[in-house]
Amino acid sequence: MQLQSMYQDIILDHYRNPHGRGLRDPFEAEVHHVNPTCGDEVTLRVHLDGETIADVSYEGMGCSISQASVSAMYDLVVGRSVTDALATGDSFMTLMQSKGDTTVAEGLEDELEDAIAFAGVSKYPARIKCALMSWMALKDASARALAATPAGGQA
Ligand code: ZN
Repeated sequence: MQLQSMYQDIILDHYRNPHGRGLRDPFEAEVHHVNPTCGDEVTLRVHLDGETIADVSYEGMGCSISQASVSAMYDLVVGRSVTDALATGDSFMTLMQSKGDTTVAEGLEDELEDAIAFAGVSKYPARIKCALMSWMALKDASARALAATPAGGQA
């Protein structure tokens, strides 16, 4: 099997059948992020239970990379602590900066699950922002949600 086409299949599958799509209640923070260079948009809500991400809900439009990235991110972050989820976001950032270096991708494969399919995007600087938009929105929304919850984060 061609790795590149397998990756494309994963991206297209998330694009056609997005996981967790739709805006849901309750939520502690909602953000709207845009990627003007491509015209991608996402509205993303974070619902916390203490410091755990209980739900991430979203609506968006734009290219397949941007929309598939939100879906793959949803699978990776729901049910985890904000700290762990954002650490995975940092790993995804590392992948996006890898310029197509397969050694970097191999090292992150287990952690990034389906999001590893975006490895090829790192070779196209113009598309990196498409893939990163969802993670930027998550970081922003999580910080706002934490700030909106009482100290100690008791739900
Ligand atoms: Zn895009």
